[in-house]
Amino acid sequence: MAEEALASELNSFNAQWDQICCQLKTEFGATAFDSWLKPLTVGDFKNGEMNVCAPTAFMKNWVVTHYADRINKIWEQRNPSIKKVNFVVQSGFSSRRSVDSSLLKQISSTPTPQNVYGSNISNKDFGLVSGASLANDTVKNNAINNAAPLNPNYTFENFVVGKTNEFAYAAAHKVAEAKNVSFNPLFLYSSVGLGKTHLMQSIIWHIKKNDPTRNVIYLTAEQFVFKFVKALRYKDTAAFKEQFRSVDVLMVDDFQFMGNKGTTQDEFLHTFSSLVAEGKQVIISADKSPTDLEGIEERLKSRLAGGLVVDIMPTDFDLRIGILQKKAQLMGIELPLKVAEFLAQKITSNVRELEGSLKRVAAHSQLLSGAKEITLDMTQDVLKDMLRSIDRKTTIDEIQKKVAEHFNISVKELQSSRRARTVARPRQVAMYLAKQLTSRSLPEIGRKFDRDHTTVMHAVRKVEELIVEDPTLAENIEILRRTLEN
Ligand code: ADP
Ligand code: MG
Repeated sequence: MAEEALASELNSFNAQWDQICCQLKTEFGATAFDSWLKPLTVGDFKNGEMNVCAPTAFMKNWVVTHYADRINKIWEQRNPSIKKVNFVVQSGFSSRRSVDSSLLKQISSTPTPQNVYGSNISNKDFGLVSGASLANDTVKNNAINNAAPLNPNYTFENFVVGKTNEFAYAAAHKVAEAKNVSFNPLFLYSSVGLGKTHLMQSIIWHIKKNDPTRNVIYLTAEQFVFKFVKALRYKDTAAFKEQFRSVDVLMVDDFQFMGNKGTTQDEFLHTFSSLVAEGKQVIISADKSPTDLEGIEERLKSRLAGGLVVDIMPTDFDLRIGILQKKAQLMGIELPLKVAEFLAQKITSNVRELEGSLKRVAAHSQLLSGAKEITLDMTQDVLKDMLRSIDRKTTIDEIQKKVAEHFNISVKELQSSRRARTVARPRQVAMYLAKQLTSRSLPEIGRKFDRDHTTVMHAVRKVEELIVEDPTLAENIEILRRTLEN
């Protein structure tokens, strides 16, 4: 019996891990996922701690530096009984997934070191060369080398300028035009989906068109680290340095993934300094300003902040309308202004999501034969689920307020440390509802109540039990849930 329970527990962890993998793949992209995350397997679970196993120590360290926080967060959201995820090197247990795709095997299967950084290597290996198309043949056998190809739509012409991004646009355009470097580096930052990659690639297209002899390397920080680690492994750092230091423009996207490795950051700093000293342009993007970057050495941060630092702010309504119209035009669809206004009003998080919703509506209109026109009704219908979840974005503050009202206590009491049942029970209910109705993590919820995440976890479990045992409380919670959802 105990064995059966154990087996079913393991099965459910495996099933959860599969779902988590889907999410990680979407968040980090197929290349990163296949290289680093796919080979991971679920290990033992004991005292609230889950072991996730990597096939090698190298891989484990990489995962810990780059993905551990995110994996911890997602597990915790999916299964509050998991308090902590430990990353370990695979021991004797049987693995469900083949580790064939592990990074180390990829490296080892590369025939000779010369093939990694041979003397004749072209910049194609770095994802982009100005003046040459991205050929698959040089990179066929190595997923990591195969940087995402440039998106032909990411041009200045297709970038819609508004109040929140005009400065970033102007700076990017200036750098693309300039023969002489005026600010170095250009550092672009914003939260996700606001156009950093679009602007970076616009610069490249511009240079390719107007000054094709200029040698550009564009890659993500993750790729930089990977290449450096590989060069170190083959004791071939000279070729690595040579490649990077002979460019005219070096562009590194998503700098936040530069990792914590001292040697890699040192190498980047050297490359950076030598390029700047020679008057070559460096362009960096990240999700935070140089000073706020985590895990980056102070002297590197201060160098990064030494040029022009520009941020892209969240979009405003007018810009969202402009972007929708531009995207509709590019997609060749008629978008009634009413529908554009509706979408611009509802989907405010970022441009990527805005674009995603437009694509869904467009696909739907094209699938319905005869009913090709996009209408407001149809849009509302197609985006029903998405809009419902946006509308339902209840805040923890609101939950505290409603729960306090319902149980006739004050919000202050709800947040206080008083343990009397009349206060403690409503507090647990509020924590439970916060977990159910918002996407906040346990620590975030905890902070709102001045408690740590274990207290929240305990509250959630307690209320789950009480719902079964105490129909009156269950009913109260149901009423609260409905008020909060409306
Ligand atoms: P980031 O790199 O900041 O996460 P991206 O550059 O990938 O964001 O942008 C996400 C999507 O939004 C892309 O499809 C991009 O074309 C689009 N986008 C963002 N800002 C604009 C803009 N101002 N005009 C047109 N498209 C935009
Ligand atoms: Mg990007």
